[in-house]
Amino acid sequence: KVESFKKQKDVMEEARPQAAQELSRVAPAEAAFKELIGDGGEGTLARFVNNRLNVLFWYRSPRESHYIFGAQLDLARLSQELGPLAQPNDRQVNGDLCLAILDDNAKPVALSKSDFQANWKHPFVATEIGEVLPHWEVAAYLVNPAQLSESARTIKLTLGLLIALLVFAIGIGSWLIVSDLNRQLKLARQKTDFVSNVSHELKTPLTSIRMFSELLAEGRVADAAKQRSYLGIITAETARLTRLINNVLDFSRMERGEKKYNFRDCDLIQLARETTESYAPHLESSGFRLETDFAPGTLPVKGDCDALAQIIVNLLSNAEKYSGERKEIEIRAGHHDGPLPYAEVRISDRGLGVPRGSEQKIFEKFYRAHDSLGSGIQGSGLGLTLARQIARAHGGDVVHEPREGGGSCFCLRLPLQFDPVKS
Ligand code: ADP
Repeated sequence: KVESFKKQKDVMEEARPQAAQELSRVAPAEAAFKELIGDGGEGTLARFVNNRLNVLFWYRSPRESHYIFGAQLDLARLSQELGPLAQPNDRQVNGDLCLAILDDNAKPVALSKSDFQANWKHPFVATEIGEVLPHWEVAAYLVNPAQLSESARTIKLTLGLLIALLVFAIGIGSWLIVSDLNRQLKLARQKTDFVSNVSHELKTPLTSIRMFSELLAEGRVADAAKQRSYLGIITAETARLTRLINNVLDFSRMERGEKKYNFRDCDLIQLARETTESYAPHLESSGFRLETDFAPGTLPVKGDCDALAQIIVNLLSNAEKYSGERKEIEIRAGHHDGPLPYAEVRISDRGLGVPRGSEQKIFEKFYRAHDSLGSGIQGSGLGLTLARQIARAHGGDVVHEPREGGGSCFCLRLPLQFDPVKS
């Protein structure tokens, strides 16, 4: 008996650690299960066993709370059932995208396009299904990724072009604003200069007229020759005033578009000769040597003789003003043959010349290359502007040509009416 008891005891002793082992294996699992489900009445449990997902639904009987019923989800069956869910009704989604339900190994279990193949690990967009099916995802794949990158490239290009266009437009706009501001500023400055220039030009002849007329009126000049010379100065200064006022009035008429011309047949040779003759005494009395060379015959042009004479006077007056030490003026009139024959009056001097870079600017209104302060020569900056505008209104032009040996040459060119008559 003792033997058998001993044997039994030994068996039990041997069996104990095994039982204890089994107990210790079950008890933590039970404890962990209890911990997971808590006191709840029902729920789901998802676990990975041997790297495979197991989903368990459990239910606790309300009457027998120590009984818990469970059911394991058949994931293969679930995949079959989920198939139709991956078939959206939206036609656009169907055309461009393929929807897939991916299992925990990122393998598609349902596809909206059965024959679609892709790198399943790189969907266009994906989201997890939920806690019940951990690692399971609903993913969308682009059917034609190249098309999307193509349209993305087109959009990028269009946007780039639009931005470039915008930057360009802003640049051009800013440049226009800045240049307009500069222009306005320049014009405002030129107008102020013009007012002071004109005032000066009015003042100088008025002072001499007043001085000489007072001398004559008070009878303080007994010498007849001196009297004549003073009267000559008064006449010349009055002519200068008239010229200046005419220029200013004509300029304002032109600016308002009100300048009218009385077009008729003129002979440019005759006009140049008469104008030079009326201006010559003044030039000679100021010590100028005047050389004239008028082509024989006539130079028929259609124009306003007074306006054309005004151009010649303005050019002669400039030649006089900007002559400096060498008081030599040349005036030539002739014609140029060619496909477009034209009549030309050239007025040249040996004076200061037009500074380099100002050759075109001198024809702008109020512009003076030799300002009153620097050169001591007075002017309004309108003479050449008017000369060119009048010439252009006659279909011709006034141009500047540099002169070999110093000085400058201004040419009045007008279209010839018909072949010049040679005498
Ligand atoms: P201004 O009343 O100042 O003479 P113009 O319009 O007649 O105005 O001439 C514009 C500018 O052109 C002058 O200020 C001068 O600097 C230059 N200019 C005109 N004619 C001559 C010339 N014969 N020689 C040198 N410079 C000239």
